[in-house]
Amino acid sequence: MPGALLFSSRLDDPVAWSAALKAALPELDVRVSPELGDPAEIETALAWKAPPGELASLPNLKLITNLGAGVDPILADATIPPHIPVARLGDAVMARMMAQFVTFAVLRHHRGNVRYERQQRARHWDYVLPRASYDCPVGVMGIGLLGGAAARMLASIGFPVAGWGRSPRRIEGIETFHGAAGLAPFLARTEILVVLLPLTPETRHIVDRDALYRLPRGAKLVNCGRGGTVDEAALLAALEDGQIAEATLDVFETEPLPADHPFWRMEQVLVLPHTASIAVPEVAARDVVENIRRLETGEPLLNIVDRARGY
Ligand code: NDP
Repeated sequence: MPGALLFSSRLDDPVAWSAALKAALPELDVRVSPELGDPAEIETALAWKAPPGELASLPNLKLITNLGAGVDPILADATIPPHIPVARLGDAVMARMMAQFVTFAVLRHHRGNVRYERQQRARHWDYVLPRASYDCPVGVMGIGLLGGAAARMLASIGFPVAGWGRSPRRIEGIETFHGAAGLAPFLARTEILVVLLPLTPETRHIVDRDALYRLPRGAKLVNCGRGGTVDEAALLAALEDGQIAEATLDVFETEPLPADHPFWRMEQVLVLPHTASIAVPEVAARDVVENIRRLETGEPLLNIVDRARGY
């Protein structure tokens, strides 16, 4: 009999998650924060931005699963004891949803929709010859689970796709670059830049003024990783200057995006409320339960985060 699981999220639906967890493991005792019951009975937690100190107050906690792919908030909680492993969610459904979002954003820029949306508002008919996708190099920064899926989907519809990561990686049909030395050539060949990086001390503001101006003039930017990986002040200046022609932004340095932020009123910027992809309870609960099973048998746990690396 596994110990109890604490569900702690103010964003996600506890009813849907409890049902999905119970469907995957009927005997699981699911407690929903802040109703902890006896904290000593809780051995695992599924948490998104749990109140600071809540997880640290559980004396028999053996595993924390971050309710999402991005672990920057949970790693920022200094109260969590370092010996407790942290797993992240990430499955094929989440990856496909992200790849579809990226494909939508890239196609919107590639097919001139930003211009046509502006033209519609002005009741203005003007035809621009569409370009073939093989003529539009796309670059994906971060080619892990989600970025890799996005890169593959874009390549499958004919875009020349390159990916950039920390370490060397081979993905069929994708040109790959890595590390500081690989960044400049990766950016120089990229017309639509997709940023799908985790937020770590190394990636904070990695897309800065210098990076933006290494892209060809008039490049387009899609950020659906974390807002903090892009220097927003530099992006704003590059958009005003025309170096970056258009942007689709799903994530921001401050969320919700403050009402007075200039991005809201820029026609060339699509502002979205951090909606690119999610963990679907029915699917993701299976991975949570698989790790609970592994915890009991002593098998290696899945999707464990490297805390020192930050992702
Ligand atoms: P992964 O951990 O699978 O992949 C991360 C990628 O980023 C890897 O390719 C990794 O390189 C690369 N990377 C990390 N640090 C660096 C660095 N310093 N320099 C260069 N490359 C680096 O993450 P996922 O693909 O699953 O998720 C990516 C991010 O997407 C999440 O961290 C989260 O913040 C965000 N996200 C956003 C959502 C939204 O709705 N907008 C939804 C879900 C996630 P390497 O290959 O060498 O390890």
